[in-house]
Amino acid sequence: LASLDAHPQPSVVDVGGVPVGGGQLAMIAGPCAVEEPDRMLRIAKAVKAAGANIFRGGAYKPRTSPYSFQGLGEEGLKILRDVGDACGMPIVTEVTDPRNVETVAKYADLLQIGARNMQNFVLLTEAGQANKPVLLKRGMSATIVDWLMSAEYVLAQGNPNVILCERGIKSFDPSTRNLFDVAAVPVVKGLSHLPVIVDPSHATGKPALIPPCALAGVAAGADGVHIEVHDEPEVAKSDGPQALLPDQYAEVAQQIRQLAALL
Ligand code: PEP
Ligand code: MN
Repeated sequence: LASLDAHPQPSVVDVGGVPVGGGQLAMIAGPCAVEEPDRMLRIAKAVKAAGANIFRGGAYKPRTSPYSFQGLGEEGLKILRDVGDACGMPIVTEVTDPRNVETVAKYADLLQIGARNMQNFVLLTEAGQANKPVLLKRGMSATIVDWLMSAEYVLAQGNPNVILCERGIKSFDPSTRNLFDVAAVPVVKGLSHLPVIVDPSHATGKPALIPPCALAGVAAGADGVHIEVHDEPEVAKSDGPQALLPDQYAEVAQQIRQLAALL
């Protein structure tokens, strides 16, 4: 179902009224984790003014350590929904557990399946049955064919609305958090009609590397860019070291628009 043979035209996925794919860019921005409501509102207003069209934040955080902040749970979903509504932006948030799909789908416009859960087939099946589009991140050790097969699990449930996200894969080199596989974008485009976006935040883990990798992704044909933004990265509850400040986001968002206009 994901293949170009099944569907030769690029798919356009509607995310709460924002079309993604077929030349229309998803500009997803927001903090790694949902935090206090006033901070969320401040960040959302700033990224919206900078050109973001979908607001992100994790309420259920898949942390490497069980002792790290795990997210605000349903309280976080409510905050995210209220902030999205107040700013007129659809919201995306991660669902980590098949038992929470229904709850997350009640609040979110787009369900994110994280890299660590890309092959959680029970979760993919549940997400495929929810009436919401799915943002499927590439697993850190997944081949492109593995990734498309995971998309297939969602599509096979009758949910045609899947957006793929390249977020970097494991490598031997600690110079970047992950290895940004920019070639994955044209490889996927050669195999599938599904929109594919890039996440240079998790791919590189370093603010200075986010703008060049965001632009490389768009130049390679990505249908959008997913970037973590925080107004005080030093106190962020999660992924602070890779967050862009709102002003830095505004600059890269403008560069992305200028580049996209040339393509
Ligand atoms: C995230 O988007 O905050 C996240 C945890 O991403 P990934 O699953 O790509 O690590
Ligand atoms: Mn993160």
